[in-house]
Amino acid sequence: MAPAWARGFRRLVTSARTARWLARRRPEAGKGVRVLLYHRISDDRDPLAVPVARFAAQVAFLAEQGYAVVPVSGAVAALAAAGESRVIGLSFDDGYRDVVENALPLLRRHGFRASMFVASGLVDGSARATWYVREPPPLLGWDEIEALDAAGDLELEAHSVTHRDLVRLSDAEARAEIEASKRELELRLGRPIAGFSYPAGSYGEREQRLVEETGYDFAVTCDPGPNGASANRFAVRRIEVLGADGVSDFRARLAGAHDAPMPFRGLYRRLRR
Ligand SMILES: [Zn+2]
Repeated sequence: MAPAWARGFRRLVTSARTARWLARRRPEAGKGVRVLLYHRISDDRDPLAVPVARFAAQVAFLAEQGYAVVPVSGAVAALAAAGESRVIGLSFDDGYRDVVENALPLLRRHGFRASMFVASGLVDGSARATWYVREPPPLLGWDEIEALDAAGDLELEAHSVTHRDLVRLSDAEARAEIEASKRELELRLGRPIAGFSYPAGSYGEREQRLVEETGYDFAVTCDPGPNGASANRFAVRRIEVLGADGVSDFRARLAGAHDAPMPFRGLYRRLRR
């Protein structure tokens, strides 16, 4: 997880870009299908949490605007018609229980569906969410995941086994993370698993190739931006919604005002590695 100074910098850039977008009175448009990324929906003080009231306002805005909110598989299927898309893909990474408690009732009210990407080792406790220094927030267990998948509101997909940065692993280790998470979910859910989320959005050519060879249909990143008709299905762009985002920031994200990567992002990533 990014340190506090990096989050503060990100917040400043977000505010400036939203203000610029509002000042230009840019219409809400932009071609291509957008996929939103969330982690937790909770009032806890956690950089990965979007407060419940804010999420409720965002869902209400999408409903008012007449968007069809679908899992990532549905967004990928809509890519061919991306020109006049009113489709929004919705995704939650890691499988936090507060998504089911706080987000799912709101989604159901509007008939919205979403994807949830879970790391099999985090689910069964063989791996730990190391980005939490103290006790991590509760994650869903296999029983809950099986029931959710059967209910159909959340489409469960794979997010590796241990949630390590795949780019830093050997070929064999990276392959094992990608293959074993698919196999485990397929055994549990009794259906093919189509989607993979790169842990921490970290991927390269090798990871895309491994995901494709393993038999997934698509993979999602944390690279912001819309997905056009010719988008790479193994590098689907997603827009991360942050806890500090106000309604204007959210609308600006949907309109593409935050598609440019953060300044100094490349340098920052190299430093972090
Ligand atoms: Zn994750």
